[in-house]
Amino acid sequence: MRIVLLGAPGSGKGTQAKLLVEKYKIPQMSTGDLLRAEVAAGTDLGKKAKAAMDAGQLVTDEIVLGMIQARLAKPDAKNGFILDGFPRNIPQAQALDAMLARLGQPLQLALLVDVTTDILMKRLTGRRSCGSCGAIYNIYFSAPKTSNKCDKCGSSLTHRSDDNEQTVGKRLGVYQQQTAPLANYYKAQGKLRTVRGVGVVSAIFKNATDIIESQIRPLADVMSKIESAAARQAAKAKAEEAKAKAAAKAAKAAKAAKPIPAAKAKPVVAAKAKPVVKKAAPKKVAPPPKAKAKSRKATKPATKAKKVK
Ligand SMILES: [Zn+2]
Repeated sequence: MRIVLLGAPGSGKGTQAKLLVEKYKIPQMSTGDLLRAEVAAGTDLGKKAKAAMDAGQLVTDEIVLGMIQARLAKPDAKNGFILDGFPRNIPQAQALDAMLARLGQPLQLALLVDVTTDILMKRLTGRRSCGSCGAIYNIYFSAPKTSNKCDKCGSSLTHRSDDNEQTVGKRLGVYQQQTAPLANYYKAQGKLRTVRGVGVVSAIFKNATDIIESQIRPLADVMSKIESAAARQAAKAKAEEAKAKAAAKAAKAAKAAKPIPAAKAKPVVAAKAKPVVKKAAPKKVAPPPKAKAKSRKATKPATKAKKVK
């Protein structure tokens, strides 16, 4: 199954992606992970990406698509993938579609994890974490028992500076402007499905898998039927072709075989028969019965020869 996950920062799509990876045994491809892996491996794409990042530039779509294509070629991606964080805009989506079409692996589903802006704001600005034990809280949804104190270890909780309303508002604004139109792009292709990203994680996941099962599985079944029918057809055609080839070969061999043994047989028989007869005749003059039989044979051509003369 080939899926693109869409969702704003704070929508929880990363959590859903991980659960989908576990359930369907297909890799999650996030551009961040791909970038890190390519740079670490020192591939050509990794070097290009690193050069761009070192120069403070954005890694081009071309590089990102190259990395995705390289990742798709790995064996664990043969049953599909979950793309997370790419595409982020329409041109990237178009480039991705073009690449996947070339590979014969078009997207099957764009799954949007939908959460209202109000809730996104609370999720992102309400985050508090414990610097000592790593526990995470949210002052709106999962507040600690004592304000700003960790339930587990009693340490003070910290609020990341970029989790303030202004920064979060900006991030969500960028998402709305750039990524939200992707929903329409995939809707126009008939590939968009939406899952509400609010509530218990397992319930959201259940809804997501229901959508996937109903959208992709039937399509996958149809595709596998078409593919196996095509495979049968191809096998039949191949068998017929092989049969025809074998028949043609046999016919050719037969054609070739007839004149050759004929041409060879006559001289061989003649060459063997004549010397044998010639040699045998003088030697076997003494034993009468055999000599008679052979002499008869020997005389026949002689009479024929006379007739010809
Ligand atoms: Zn703690």
